[in-house]
Amino acid sequence: MGVNIIVEKCVGCRVCVKVCPVAALEMVDKKAVCLDTCTLCGICVDACKFDAIEMPEREVAVEINPDDYRGVWVFVQPDHGKIHHVSLELVGEGRKLADALETTLSCMILSDSADLFTDDLKTYDIDSVYIVDHPVLKDYRTQPFVESAAALIRAHRPEIVLIGATSTGRDFAGGLATALKTGLTADCTGLDIEVETRSLLQTRPAFGGNIMATIKSSNHRPQMATVRPKVFPMPLQKPESNPEIHRLEIDLSDDNPKTCLIEWIPIEEGVALADADIIVSGGRGMGKPENMTMLLELADLLGGALGASRAVVDAGWVEYSHQVGQTGRTVRPRIYIACGISGAVQHLAGMKTSDVIIAINRDKDAPIFDVATYGYVGDALEIVPKVIVELKKQLAK
Ligand code: FAD
Repeated sequence: MGVNIIVEKCVGCRVCVKVCPVAALEMVDKKAVCLDTCTLCGICVDACKFDAIEMPEREVAVEINPDDYRGVWVFVQPDHGKIHHVSLELVGEGRKLADALETTLSCMILSDSADLFTDDLKTYDIDSVYIVDHPVLKDYRTQPFVESAAALIRAHRPEIVLIGATSTGRDFAGGLATALKTGLTADCTGLDIEVETRSLLQTRPAFGGNIMATIKSSNHRPQMATVRPKVFPMPLQKPESNPEIHRLEIDLSDDNPKTCLIEWIPIEEGVALADADIIVSGGRGMGKPENMTMLLELADLLGGALGASRAVVDAGWVEYSHQVGQTGRTVRPRIYIACGISGAVQHLAGMKTSDVIIAINRDKDAPIFDVATYGYVGDALEIVPKVIVELKKQLAK
């Protein structure tokens, strides 16, 4: 959809073509024509002196009755034959939300081999599993996944749908919220329930991470949120759980696909930050790129991974894949060692739920000490080499 051109008023002056930032207007027979690439920014509407361009009318939202919707659902993201751990983390959080609402917790599986996942899910505390099992759902693609999920949700009307904020989850959640004409809060770092209104309180950083905003989706259902991996802990298993299984048969055609999977090429990550039990992380206080080597050595000795602040990544000292924080990875290791990192809110957003945080900083007032379990006020360039020497001695024993 694009802007509406009122052909009778268009004089062919080309002003709109010149101002359009995405080249979505062109002239055909001296009249402006809007292309599919229009983003509805409205710049051309303001620029046209002849009132020949109008914004399209907005679709009126469908009135819904929240009481028609019950239950909390978690999207089970396939991860090469396994369930992605973020989905299980959401099962744990979903249980708490469902208990607060005195309703059920369900999982949604979209797959060509759903039973593979159902067996695993039976070991967690869930009430039911909703399944679309179809050969077209072999690999993730937006169109068939959104179509199947929308069909399940329209049929069973959950009030909350939780999705992992992975690359797949972000794509899927956006498509699904659009198909269902409901709201979506991305990258939540906290979820809660306002019991009186059955509203999902979705907390996430806003304004560059300087404030935490709590968002409610009062007028639409389901309430949808994505949550990054490792924000919530893995739930305990509950072997005696015996969820009800519901299957939906739908006619998914793959005759005219918008996308297809050509080849699967895994990214060489080098570091397994997300799964590391111990992370040694460096910030601008490490002084220069060469000094990051001592952190890598310490991480190797501890069997951990190297992390970094954005300042260090932006300076080109290490790759983006090492970045911890709001625009990097969210991590939850057993031990997080922060060396020369000030502890800006955007960094803390990615690591503050680590079990133990050890901070080394020259500035005793650095905010990292507010979240640190153990703090060392001192020069990381002196302390880290001493720790390495001591560790080597211990390991040699
Ligand atoms: P600095 O803030 O410069 O801190 C360096 C620290 O090192 C200081 O506390 C200093 O006292 C200490 N120090 C200096 N020398 C030594 C020494 N020899 N020994 C010990 N300590 C020493 N940042 C992230 O990290 N991750 C993100 O994902 C992220 N996303 C962002 C998103 C947005 C929208 C914005 C606006 C910012 C984001 N940032 C992010 C940037 C963030 O605001 C900070 O600028 C950044 O985290 C600072 O990195 P730093 O702590 O390494 O550097």
